[in-house]
Amino acid sequence: MTRAMSSPLTQLPDSTPRALVIGAGPAGLMAAEVLLEKGVRTELVESAPSVARKFLIAGKGGLNLTHSEEINRFVSRYRERRGPVSEWLSEFGPDQLRQWATDLGIDTIIGSSGRIFPADFKAGPMLRRWVRRLRAQGLVVRTGTRFAGWNSDGQVRLSNADGEQLRSPLATVLALGGSNWSKLGASGAWVEILRSAGVDVATLSPSNCGFECVWSDVFKQRYAGVAVKQVVATVASEAPLRGEFMLTEHGVEGSLIYALSAPLRQQLTESGRAEVRLDLAPDRDLAALQERLQTGRGSRSWSEFLRRQLHIQGSRYGLLRELGGPWAFSDAETLASKIKDLPLILHATRPIDEAISCAGGVRFEAMRDDGMLIAKPGVWCAGEMVDWEAPTGGYLLTACFASGRAAGAAAARWVQRDQPGVAHPS
Ligand SMILES: Cc1cc2nc3c(=O)[nH]c(=O)nc-3n(C[C@H](O)[C@H](O)[C@H](O)COP(=O)(O)OP(=O)(O)OC[C@H]3O[C@@H](n4cnc5c(N)ncnc54)[C@H](O)[C@@H]3O)c2cc1C
Repeated sequence: MTRAMSSPLTQLPDSTPRALVIGAGPAGLMAAEVLLEKGVRTELVESAPSVARKFLIAGKGGLNLTHSEEINRFVSRYRERRGPVSEWLSEFGPDQLRQWATDLGIDTIIGSSGRIFPADFKAGPMLRRWVRRLRAQGLVVRTGTRFAGWNSDGQVRLSNADGEQLRSPLATVLALGGSNWSKLGASGAWVEILRSAGVDVATLSPSNCGFECVWSDVFKQRYAGVAVKQVVATVASEAPLRGEFMLTEHGVEGSLIYALSAPLRQQLTESGRAEVRLDLAPDRDLAALQERLQTGRGSRSWSEFLRRQLHIQGSRYGLLRELGGPWAFSDAETLASKIKDLPLILHATRPIDEAISCAGGVRFEAMRDDGMLIAKPGVWCAGEMVDWEAPTGGYLLTACFASGRAAGAAAARWVQRDQPGVAHPS
């Protein structure tokens, strides 16, 4: 690819790729792969100095690619957006993703929780093979190059160290991610660019994130950084979830809390506070608990008694003391009810930059059924920048890959077919 010249603005010659993919995360790479498979000359542009940085970070946690659960349960993870996301997954779901990894030479394994990982739990080898294959198929990758919107002629504006350049691709796929972990490249600056182009974008907000609450100083000093294991958490009318979470200086985080982040965020938006009800002894019902607690504790301290009788100790005992209120330990009935139903009040999400993923983004209503932006013919969006969310468990990457494939396939059709009544952007 010809190096761009500095100002004045330059127009690339005839070798300009017919499709431009912007954002080299899993969604953008997948869109580029499909375009290349369909024989469309494609350029991939990325603002960071290297590709797929967030994907590589996901590899530090073992790279949970997808999940082995039954497909109806799988699609239910996308909550209100399960309809459009299941359209993507019907073409490229968990099974196809595993097969795709195998074809790349990466074996996958199913963990005890049903989550699917590369057998070596690493993202680096998979990414290297993938990018090598894409380059061999003819992909031109241009890193350190930022998408800055469109000019008044509808040309794509890119900027890099050499200055600003214009592109006039027949099709553009945007896969710009959210605005979390901005040090890896996702700034969310695209939100205003798309809004000013007439695209309806729901405000980005943290998903799979930590939440803040008020801890006493004593509790914070003792338990910040400590895990709470084997509890069940319930938020409003959601199904109770079993798992573990971490106590932090500011509040709570970790897998159980992340899984509840959508309804918790909704409560915060509606009333400024959110409530999780914790069951600290999920394997015993209330009556059995009361019976145990009625066994006299004699001269033993409460902490010793609860540890011996019910294995409630450490952070779970700390939570009972912190959140149970002054009368929690007054009698067996009250204590049993607190152990089974302990309210944890949250007052804010942690900042979006710390979140694992983002909610909000380009609304499905702003796109045609094939994903093309109604306000920008010839432009598709894919990945986390689209308005869906899901818990951790491989659901994020699966939908990013699947939406990238869908956008790439639709963009290829657009490039290769006359569009009666609709002018191409160039
Ligand atoms: C710590 C961590 C661990 C995770 N672990 C998992 C996991 O195990 N399993 C899972 O399913 N999900 C996981 N995720 C989430 C998953 O990584 C993301 O959902 C996924 O990477 C999103 O893919 P994407 O292609 O939509 O966006 P991104 O991966 O964010 O890629 C978007 C790209 O666009 C580029 N870009 C942005 N703006 C511009 C611009 N103006 N011009 C040019 N380029 C631009 C960015 O630099 C970035 O490279 C994890 C996330 C984090 C933070």
